[in-house]
Amino acid sequence: MDSKILIIGACGQIGTELTTALREKHGRENVIASDINTRNLDLVNSGPFLIIDAKNYNAIKDCCELNNVKTVYLMAALLSATGEKYPMEAWDLNMNSLFHVLNLAKDKVIDAVFWPSSIAVFGPSTPKQNTPQHTICEPTTVYGITKQVGERWCEYYHEKYGVDVRSVRYPGIISYKTEPGGGTTDYAVEIFHKAILDGSYTSFLKEDTELPMMFMEDAISATLQLMEAPKDAICIRSSYNLAAINFTPQTLSNAIKKHVPEFKISYEPDFRQAIADSWPSSIDDSVARTDWNWNHNYDLESMTFEMLSQLNTIYDSKVTLS
Ligand code: NAD
Repeated sequence: MDSKILIIGACGQIGTELTTALREKHGRENVIASDINTRNLDLVNSGPFLIIDAKNYNAIKDCCELNNVKTVYLMAALLSATGEKYPMEAWDLNMNSLFHVLNLAKDKVIDAVFWPSSIAVFGPSTPKQNTPQHTICEPTTVYGITKQVGERWCEYYHEKYGVDVRSVRYPGIISYKTEPGGGTTDYAVEIFHKAILDGSYTSFLKEDTELPMMFMEDAISATLQLMEAPKDAICIRSSYNLAAINFTPQTLSNAIKKHVPEFKISYEPDFRQAIADSWPSSIDDSVARTDWNWNHNYDLESMTFEMLSQLNTIYDSKVTLS
């Protein structure tokens, strides 16, 4: 039997597009998507799909053994904003799911693991500009703590047991195909929907809150590139810094206005402001660029144009874009 790939949490914002990209690359039948729900029917019907709870070790193990799965992409997690509401659930899901796949790799059931970390590993004491690969990490959110601890375990499993685990610290991911799942950077997706539907948006972050962001296509390319890189090129086994674009709600609003001139933005910061304030505004990802030739394609202008034109098509050309 050909070896297969398993994606856990495949119905989420990133999992959906990762599944599509992996199926295009390796063939539909070789990529098994899984989640705890079937809410994304397009994805569920686009190839093999299983209901798997990421907290259930035996369910993951059975799937891997029965289907000759050799690579697992673990995308299930509770994100930053949701994690603050349900701290123990975030800890339980984010940590136990990671242990399950790391242990399967340690026991040689599978060969390789992709597990995403986040810019949430950083905290208020981290240098905010051009945050280096190796720096102070004192996260102040439950989500950030799970990612920081997860990174340590990934490196530990690599060092102690030779597990081939690879990871990137995704910045905020911007996409038009799937809604974001409860993070602090969700505003940068919602704003595009509202620009087309209502011509206005109320941001839950202040106008000058600068955060590192990335267009989905770049996030998927980075993930595939990292997983295809030769083993000896990977010198970071905790998680690589990854960067593309940095902007504030105000600069994003100005970029949108170039195409939707009547667009208006207002600001009503909520509890997510404190989370955003604890994160860097820009990231130094030179180690990833050197080790596995990472390069982003989308800047603020090209990402904004792509988001607006794709969403306008989805919303039956509701606005005329300039
Ligand atoms: P998401 O919330 O959109 O998707 C997560 C998916 O996991 C959902 O489909 C959900 O149904 C599923 N899930 C939840 N509990 C599960 C369980 N017990 N078993 C199986 N599946 C379960 O998240 P996302 O934005 O796609 O993020 C994917 C990964 O990337 C996460 O590890 C996240 O921390 C990381 N990340 C995302 C961003 C971002 O901006 N989206 C940024 C940094 C890091």
